[in-house]
Amino acid sequence: MTATILIVEDEKLIAEMIQFNLEKQGYDVHVAYDGILAVQKVEVVKPDLILLDIMLPGLNGFEVCRQVRKNHSTPIIMLTAKETESDKVQGLNLGADDYITKPFSPQELLARVNAQLRRANVFNIQEQVNENKMQFGNLAIDTQKYEVYKDQKLIALTIREFELLSFLASNADKVYSRSDLLHEVWGYKEFFGDDRTVDVTVRRLREKIEEMPSAPQYIITKRGVGYYFRRR
Ligand code: CA
Repeated sequence: MTATILIVEDEKLIAEMIQFNLEKQGYDVHVAYDGILAVQKVEVVKPDLILLDIMLPGLNGFEVCRQVRKNHSTPIIMLTAKETESDKVQGLNLGADDYITKPFSPQELLARVNAQLRRANVFNIQEQVNENKMQFGNLAIDTQKYEVYKDQKLIALTIREFELLSFLASNADKVYSRSDLLHEVWGYKEFFGDDRTVDVTVRRLREKIEEMPSAPQYIITKRGVGYYFRRR
């Protein structure tokens, strides 16, 4: 599989290091050195995955993420120099799928990249063979077309949000812990990811599918345990 990866990074040495390691794995790699060029390149090279720095000239990484998400569900991994919780949460809120804190090792980078691409690929295969449509109240989930409708209106979800929703809905009324979900939906081993990732994605999903996100009807918090999807 030759996946196309777009690196958005203004520090040339870091961009070259990433490019070197990804090309060594056989990936087709493109680089953008500023945010404005990044948004343009996404349309031209149609990447399978985007590695996105936050501090960039032109548009910053958060803004690039926001713009890309208007039209694309391409997996996005944010590269953050600051290990602050708010950066991570903001990135995830804007639809990023994962983040890596600099400095990172080539091994960590490749593990994250491969995990994202594997998920996106598994998704495509499921799309071909799975004709399942699930209906819950005013919510319809089409796992073949990868679409979710609320009151017959299409809702824009990221791949991760969709995957979390379809996983919970396919296993309705069963409670999953945050680490179960990191494993099942994110494909993380224990040493990757933290529980906040799950909470942030749940919150985003509730804002999109629930009538009242503060009093959810579908994705329910089981206090002290985790989350489940309530069958109506
Ligand atoms: Ca930078």
